[in-house]
Amino acid sequence: MDAGSIIESMSMPPARQADVLRWPVIGAFLRWRHARTSLQLVVLLITATLVAHGLFGSQIGPRNLATVVTWVHYRGLLVIALLAAGNLFCTGCPFVLVRDVGRRVRQPWLRWPHRLRTKWIGILLFVSVLFIYELFDLWALPRGTALLVLAYFGAALSVDLVFAGATFCKYLCPIGQFNFVASTVSPLALQVRQPETCRTCRTFDCIKGRPETNQRGCELGLFLPAKIGSLDCTFCLDCVQACPHDNVALAVGVPGAELLDLRRRSGIGRLTERWDVATLTVLFAFGGLLNAFAMTAPVLDLERWLARVMGSTSEAPVLAVLFVVALGAVPLAALGGAAAVTRHLTRPTSYSVGQIAVRYACALVPFGFGVWLAHYGFHLLTGGLTIIPVAQSAIIEVVGWAALGAPMWQWTGMQPGAVFPIQLGFILLGSIGSLALSYLISERDYPDRPVFAAAPWLGVVLVLAAAAVWILSQPMEMRGLGLSG
Ligand code: SF4
Ligand code: SF4
Repeated sequence: MDAGSIIESMSMPPARQADVLRWPVIGAFLRWRHARTSLQLVVLLITATLVAHGLFGSQIGPRNLATVVTWVHYRGLLVIALLAAGNLFCTGCPFVLVRDVGRRVRQPWLRWPHRLRTKWIGILLFVSVLFIYELFDLWALPRGTALLVLAYFGAALSVDLVFAGATFCKYLCPIGQFNFVASTVSPLALQVRQPETCRTCRTFDCIKGRPETNQRGCELGLFLPAKIGSLDCTFCLDCVQACPHDNVALAVGVPGAELLDLRRRSGIGRLTERWDVATLTVLFAFGGLLNAFAMTAPVLDLERWLARVMGSTSEAPVLAVLFVVALGAVPLAALGGAAAVTRHLTRPTSYSVGQIAVRYACALVPFGFGVWLAHYGFHLLTGGLTIIPVAQSAIIEVVGWAALGAPMWQWTGMQPGAVFPIQLGFILLGSIGSLALSYLISERDYPDRPVFAAAPWLGVVLVLAAAAVWILSQPMEMRGLGLSG
């Protein structure tokens, strides 16, 4: 089906009123042709600095820019940006800048195989990065953190120098997969301004690009008139530059509303038919819980107990069991159980247990986002000011004298006790979002019996919320101190 037929056959989203691209200062900047490159250059400079310090500077985690900036500031600012605006960190992604420079030297010559155009490899990489982070305690390893960042550059470069389009971003990048899911609860999304303009458009530059001006179309394969929400959108703004009718808006909408949308979306299809996307959303939620749990004191006791039971003195197999249980067995039991109950309570029903689980999986995204926000926000709020003494210390390492003054190590951030109520607020908001989505999905799929259909899912969200509150109330503990202690 060609682009014109797609436009004729689809029901386009209505034009929204608010458009950030029309705002005075921010809008003017975002519409500037070099806006993305400028952001990428800034982030590249910061990344180069922290990688250099990670490789050659102090190897004490809390005193190194690589560990502090990556695990305290980058993650915290990432989730705040996602909540406030959208996928801004993909906009400023330095991996893509380096890849673009590489493509000036060598153009990709292959297309990513059709059978791999799913999220499964991205999911595997997402879980692998979580696992490696926990296994090697990367937050305490400056050189390890720097090498991980360099591995991202190497992977993006080697994949995208061979395969055309944004293959690495769309199918592989673990950070990208995280950002795609999280951006579904962001208030902003790129979409067409006036659907009517697209109906009469005959160039479709937003997807095809404009070779004569060296302007790319959407590398992620999102055709703007059929684009719904922010899933798979890197906020690269290429479509804004490419559209000859100035018909692309950065529109304000209801966070999470796209998760209810049943329509076929460009580059993705229907959410209710995407098992890989459903799995990604579930791992997003349970991965957030596991990542937060892994920093608490009880997990160390659990690991030691598991190690005794397994007769292992190595952390890897113990952690692997923990991952299999937390990201495999528990989600399967929770979603499978809830779907089975929904099916039982809404008989006769036309959906299988698996289909019901896929249809409800996305309801967990707001809760998952709340957990990531509470966790990363904690580190940012309690450790955000450490950037000052760490930078002072790095300057001393480089130039040999205190050019920015003696490091003020007393500067850290808020007290953990003061942050806890804020964390509870994030969990509460996320849980409310997931409860609301669960009920709205039930209304959509079971208009005759929404309460019965929703009941098990409301139960799942409440149990997860209780687990999150318990995890966040636990004392923080640096894991990786050995299993024998
Ligand atoms: S190029 Fe612009 S007007 Fe044409 S289909 Fe794309 S967004 Fe619509
Ligand atoms: S070109 Fe595609 S990925 Fe980039 S902002 Fe537009 S829709 Fe999103």
